[in-house]
Amino acid sequence: MNGAVLEARATIGILGGGQLGRMLALAAARLGFKCHVFAPNPDSPAFDVVHRVTCADYTDTQALDRFAADVDAVTYEFENVPADTAAFLAARVPVLPDPQVLATTQDRLAEKIFVSGLGIGTADFAAVAEPGELAAAIETIGRPAVLKTRRFGYDGKGQATIRNGTDPQTAWREVGGQPCILEAFVPFEREVSVIAARGRDGSIECFDVTENEHRDHILKVSRVPATLSANAAEEARRIAEAIAQAFNYVGVLAVEMFVQRGNGGLLVNEIAPRVHNSGHWTLDGASVSQFEQHIRAVAGWPLAKPIRYGRVEMTNLIGSEVEDFRRWLEVPGAAVHLYGKAAVRPGRKMGHVTRVFTE
Ligand code: AMP
Repeated sequence: MNGAVLEARATIGILGGGQLGRMLALAAARLGFKCHVFAPNPDSPAFDVVHRVTCADYTDTQALDRFAADVDAVTYEFENVPADTAAFLAARVPVLPDPQVLATTQDRLAEKIFVSGLGIGTADFAAVAEPGELAAAIETIGRPAVLKTRRFGYDGKGQATIRNGTDPQTAWREVGGQPCILEAFVPFEREVSVIAARGRDGSIECFDVTENEHRDHILKVSRVPATLSANAAEEARRIAEAIAQAFNYVGVLAVEMFVQRGNGGLLVNEIAPRVHNSGHWTLDGASVSQFEQHIRAVAGWPLAKPIRYGRVEMTNLIGSEVEDFRRWLEVPGAAVHLYGKAAVRPGRKMGHVTRVFTE
């Protein structure tokens, strides 16, 4: 159910309290909305910036009931919201995007089947339900290949590369011995993503294609525009639009793609049914941010037409790199964003910096 268009000053519920929830809430506040964040962790960065918080487990139906009664619509900042939680809320209040999208995007196998069913390219893949199926999958896919858990993988967690000489059973143990997919390793020239917003009226607006550089499987730098031919950029947008359309999606989603070495063809790697780290540049580099677009879509308000201000570079501050923020504060034109996280851990996203180059 999409529900009524939200009035200004309505309350939007956000499931998840990380930096994405925090930046969504800040964008919502600028449009006059209040936000109520529901998250299980008392140290949630989004709690610092909102009107109301619920700190409870996603299975706490009493807390969910009170949350639903307090908000005019619910959205989420991460894709691993339990299906039962989303269904419980959807019976009481509009939940956008529709929770059926979660079922597909929480499972790498379902996601690959969905994407290839739309006639969009992905790496070749095979399901591996148990260790006994691994040898046959390697036979079909070839080496090198990447073994990935079907669920709960992010930032390279739950992944193992199977090269010539890798013992498949070691890889199986490395990913925790759970249902997986095996993907052909894609020799890629670069990785890109498209952040697309789809409104309740079916209109779609995409941000310019972003080029992403990872370090230790974690996004380090995003650059816009991506180094891509006009045709390939157009194709990347078309792919993101087709996916948003097929889901009857409302909100912002990110589609990560590989640009293949040699033929330059695009293969979809992953869909994130939410605002995405590779879209953080839009906060300072465009006339509307991905966060505001998402809030507009969820509210049933018209999407903005994004205008990019120049060439943009976004750098993540990961783990102890957060200390670099002091240096960045001195850099002309740099916009520093800190997420207010108390504990610094290796690999933890602590903040980011954006630079816009207008010449
Ligand atoms: P993912 O968690 O699927 O986004 O994967 C994290 C990163 O691992 C990607 O951004 C790529 O750099 C790399 N990767 C994942 N799958 C493949 C693949 N099939 N071929 C080559 N590199 C991959």
